[in-house]
Amino acid sequence: MKLILLGGPGVGKGTQASLLERHLKVPHISTGEIFRENIRAGTPLGVKVREYIEAGKLVPDDITVEMVSNRLFEDDCNSGYILDGFPRTIPQAEAIGKILRQAGTDIDFILSIELPDDEIVKRLAGRRVCPGCGETYHIDYKPSGRKDYCDKCGVKLLQRSDDHEQTIRERLANYHRQTAPLLDYYGNTGKLRVINGEGGIDDVFSRIMAVLGEK
Ligand code: AMP
Repeated sequence: MKLILLGGPGVGKGTQASLLERHLKVPHISTGEIFRENIRAGTPLGVKVREYIEAGKLVPDDITVEMVSNRLFEDDCNSGYILDGFPRTIPQAEAIGKILRQAGTDIDFILSIELPDDEIVKRLAGRRVCPGCGETYHIDYKPSGRKDYCDKCGVKLLQRSDDHEQTIRERLANYHRQTAPLLDYYGNTGKLRVINGEGGIDDVFSRIMAVLGEK
């Protein structure tokens, strides 16, 4: 199964993609996470993209498309993948469409997870992440049982540098300007499904599973 998860920042794409990865046994490919790993490791790619990410801006299309197109042809992607956070612009969607067509393959579903902007700001501003194992928490909705430390591995939780209110607003504006047009772009493929992102993690996952059941 090959899936694209669309939706604004903080709608729960990453959380749902991790659940889907376990369920479908195909890799979860998060462009944001690959960029953050490169920043942490101080690679040349990390050095190039750091500034954009910290300002809440999109990384340029050529850098992003090259990274994803290499990743999609690794062996673990043979039976599918879940793309989380890519494509985010029309040129990215066009580029990936062309690459897949040349490889004689295509995406099965494009799932757009949707939430009102105010709810997105509330979710992101309260989000905390574990730099040790990657687990995510929320100060109100999903607090760690060990306060500021990860339940799973005990490492001190952090707030992502792009999860401060000013940067969240910038990311939301970018979403509406650059990514939301993808809904029209994919609208006539017959593969786009809108998923209501409200409610708990399991509610949203059930809605996604209902859509995948169509296949
Ligand atoms: P995310 O973890 O998906 O919220 O992504 C974090 C940040 O990584 C975004 O705000 C962008 O700066 C960058 N990023 C992730 N995916 C893309 C993409 N497809 N195109 C451009 N920039 C991206």
